[in-house]
Amino acid sequence: MTSSSIVGLGIPSISRISPIAVDDRPDVPVLIDKFGRVARDLRVSITEKCSLRCTYCMPEEGLPAIPTSDLLTPQEIARVVGVAVHSLGVEEVRFTGGEPLMRADLADILRLCSTVAPGIPLAMTTNAVGLEHRANALVAAGLSRVNVSLDTIDREHFAELTRRDRLPSVLAGVRAATRAGLSPVKINAVLMPETLHGAADLLEWCLSEGVALRFIEQMPLDADQEWARTNMLDAQRLLDVLSARFDLREIGRADPSAPAEEWAVDGTSATVGIIASVTRSFCSDCDRTRVTAEGTVRSCLFSDEETDLRAALRGGANDAELADLWRGAMWNKWAGHEIDAADFVPPARSMGAIGG
Ligand code: SAM
Ligand code: SF4
Repeated sequence: MTSSSIVGLGIPSISRISPIAVDDRPDVPVLIDKFGRVARDLRVSITEKCSLRCTYCMPEEGLPAIPTSDLLTPQEIARVVGVAVHSLGVEEVRFTGGEPLMRADLADILRLCSTVAPGIPLAMTTNAVGLEHRANALVAAGLSRVNVSLDTIDREHFAELTRRDRLPSVLAGVRAATRAGLSPVKINAVLMPETLHGAADLLEWCLSEGVALRFIEQMPLDADQEWARTNMLDAQRLLDVLSARFDLREIGRADPSAPAEEWAVDGTSATVGIIASVTRSFCSDCDRTRVTAEGTVRSCLFSDEETDLRAALRGGANDAELADLWRGAMWNKWAGHEIDAADFVPPARSMGAIGG
């Protein structure tokens, strides 16, 4: 266990998993789990809707629609973010989905959250479709950074992977994000056999646009449940493909708990990262807590156990009660995903329904 202090809460932080689970929850304000991890990074899904249908995420027909009355309102999202930051020690908030840009009230959500939690970075994971027209307004409302999901810069291949011909809008969205002053702009590409042949072109494009690129291993979180371990692409094969065009120099992780291993692209100041969520899982350093679009707390992508914050919130719970409910949900977080186990069962919700 390390003993640096959690900003603003003055209690020891524990950044690595303790091998032995503890039964009794200590009386501390933060979101600590049985294995000693503390969640400081909040992912809030705000919709199940999406403008794309990536084959590794969504079914072709989209996810079943969530009734509007079941979605958290901007005021409720801000209340949840306020509790997370002021009572539970959360230090970064990221909006995701589905596609966050599908919410017409996204700027209201950001404005309310930045008022409730001034100084806390508000980030968004997005496919960037339509971002071109909204980047300035979102920055004005409080957005600090974006991760854009982009797997290829080949238009036909993009249309195949996402079942939508929207590549020009995505590329314009990335440029608009940079122009609007969002920093850093990071590109996330899913690492899979289908994306291998376009990987060097994608890196070249990212270098020319001055945006960082990270490849993320595909996880068994597709709605169609077609993921197979045997189809997984070895990181070395990606490195071989990239090395045919670029001189790469391994630099490792920015810090021991960073999920991405980085390679410097020689001749530039850029790096390319690989996040091996499946083959080299970073569960022991996981500091994430998730809230779904319907307002349930989810302690792990892979665990179907959810705790209903929305019912408590709409039932009149005060901030202390909401915080305690959330602490209880996180205390039971699993040690880690067991994708490699023979009896592994994918979670009922897919990535787009949880919020990646
Ligand atoms: N629509 C937004 C986007 O695509 O960035 C936000 C939601 S999306 C579910 C969040 C992230 O999850 C994206 O970077 C996407 O590539 C990633 N993702 C979706 N399905 C995945 C899977 N099966 N394995 C790994 N990453 C996945
Ligand atoms: Fe939509 Fe993002 Fe899922 Fe693609 S990864 S279908 S853009 S939610």
